[in-house]
Amino acid sequence: MRMTNTRSVRLLSVPYDANSSFTRGTAGAPTTIRERLFSPAGNLYTENLVDLAAEDRLIDEGDIEVRAFPEDIISTARHLLKTDCRLLALGGDHSITYPLIKACSEKYPNLSVIQFDAHPDLYHDFEGNRWSHASPFARVMEDGLTETLVQCGIRASSKHLHEQQERFNVVSLPVGRPIEFEPLQLTGPFYVSIDMDSLDPAFAPGVSHPEPGGLTMRELIDAIKELPAHVVAGDIVELNPLKDSTGITAAAAAKLVKELAGKMLEV
Ligand code: MN
Ligand code: MN
Repeated sequence: MRMTNTRSVRLLSVPYDANSSFTRGTAGAPTTIRERLFSPAGNLYTENLVDLAAEDRLIDEGDIEVRAFPEDIISTARHLLKTDCRLLALGGDHSITYPLIKACSEKYPNLSVIQFDAHPDLYHDFEGNRWSHASPFARVMEDGLTETLVQCGIRASSKHLHEQQERFNVVSLPVGRPIEFEPLQLTGPFYVSIDMDSLDPAFAPGVSHPEPGGLTMRELIDAIKELPAHVVAGDIVELNPLKDSTGITAAAAAKLVKELAGKMLEV
């Protein structure tokens, strides 16, 4: 068995999109992201020159087969987290975040959550589905898996979603201003969830719910670099390869894998 430690990020793929409300396709994302990530067209250095190709820094754990949601994802994440490592999951739709945070919160009771997304994903249910990809953070907050949820990039909401944000004391950083975490005086450890539709469709057109007026790729990368230390786990979700004809969204997601993994390896 390989030895892993906090100098390792375990990359877990969750090709699951059964809780998508509008259109399917995100289940194909982990394959396209990994193809791009491990392509000979590039290397595995982060912008801060962390070499993820160095031995055991980035370990590809392959795909989860999800037969029972959310149990199968919870148990796999729980198993991986038994070792002293960081966990980075590739979706799939955003519903996978609830079981991932559930497993992480068992190991890290004081977990804070930072979400990049065009949408709050706080619906009590969506079209009757409480596990909808529009609802994971409602379940996270109801179950008390975190006391601190910070949302960045939100620009498509509703009265119900706004009420949910207030009910759960969610901090939503306004779009159009630089993302700064320091004034919030957040305490870790942190779970970071990146919905690819947080980016403007100019940078990430290949998503199921493109929403204009979003973050630039540069702003998102810089926000990751500005995150407080002690990011223990996270996910990158909602890439839809069926809508990504040029592959630019997969390229963006692969770059975000590198930058977020590099952040996790910071001590
Ligand atoms: Mn979204
Ligand atoms: Mn989302």
